[in-house]
Amino acid sequence: MNGQRHSRFNGRRQSRVLETINLPIILEHVAEAATTFYGRGKLPEYIPELAEIEPNQFGMAITTVAGEQYTIGDVDVAFSIQSISKLLALILAMNLEGESLWSHVGREPSGTRFNSLVQLEYEQGIPRNPFINAGALVTLDRVLAHVRDYPSVVLDFARFLSMSDSVAIDSAIVECERQTGHTNYALAYLLRSFRRIEAPVTELLAAYFHQCALSMTCRDLSRAFVALANGGLSPILEEAVVTARHAKRINSLMLTSGMYDSVGNFAYRVGLPAKSGVGGGIVAIVPGHMCIAVWSPELDLSGNSVVGVRALETFSEITGLSIF
Ligand code: GLU
Repeated sequence: MNGQRHSRFNGRRQSRVLETINLPIILEHVAEAATTFYGRGKLPEYIPELAEIEPNQFGMAITTVAGEQYTIGDVDVAFSIQSISKLLALILAMNLEGESLWSHVGREPSGTRFNSLVQLEYEQGIPRNPFINAGALVTLDRVLAHVRDYPSVVLDFARFLSMSDSVAIDSAIVECERQTGHTNYALAYLLRSFRRIEAPVTELLAAYFHQCALSMTCRDLSRAFVALANGGLSPILEEAVVTARHAKRINSLMLTSGMYDSVGNFAYRVGLPAKSGVGGGIVAIVPGHMCIAVWSPELDLSGNSVVGVRALETFSEITGLSIF
């Protein structure tokens, strides 16, 4: 695989640290090391459509705060972003609701599986954070209080942020989750019984399944979230996507809750705020420097991409880039 540099965007000046490291060469090393871990994880069988994916695929794309892009591997293969979409809903909810969002959902790591019902019952229907499924449903419910036709809104938002018209919603995955997402229905009904959501359960879940089924490439994702590395300002769009205050807070939430139930292990190994999805994608933020999107479909027991986590760990070891 060859690491490639693209400078289609005339963004800001590259940061000093990035001038001293050779990203194309580093990406080659990272890809070589990480792909030796093919075969160590499993495809997510609870979403049958995702269990059909060819497992030995790997892509990694970096968009820097100067708007430059560096890529290696399968960066133009679209995949199901799944829980990474919770970031899109959170940005929309923070922009629409501001601080009042936090009277509906918490900001603590859950220490339980992402779709656990038990904790939600103990805690009277207030989900621990916006990245577990219950928290994502409550966050989305707040967005639905402001917008109509959410699937189009979230699709347009993803296309806008990534400047890519090829972002799509995979209707086969929507349908698959509609038919098999029994735990998500259970979570939504529990939330409803605690009066924590306003939208009817079927409407809320339809919106949720559409956002999870967004199909994007690593290249798209690294562009879409680079604003979080740059105080909320997208170097590609040359406009603010969120305020600097919100960008900092979203990164903090990713650091404490973005990697399922192995967030501590990920912080130990990589030391970057990140959000993963069961489609095998991970978006990681290096504040002040770049957004990294990595994808490889096989998952570890917590639901994170085995090869993706390994790639980010190797990247942070070689470059010394982490928030610590
Ligand atoms: N659609 C998936 C679910 O709700 C998303 C899970 C994930 O990526 O964490 O179970």
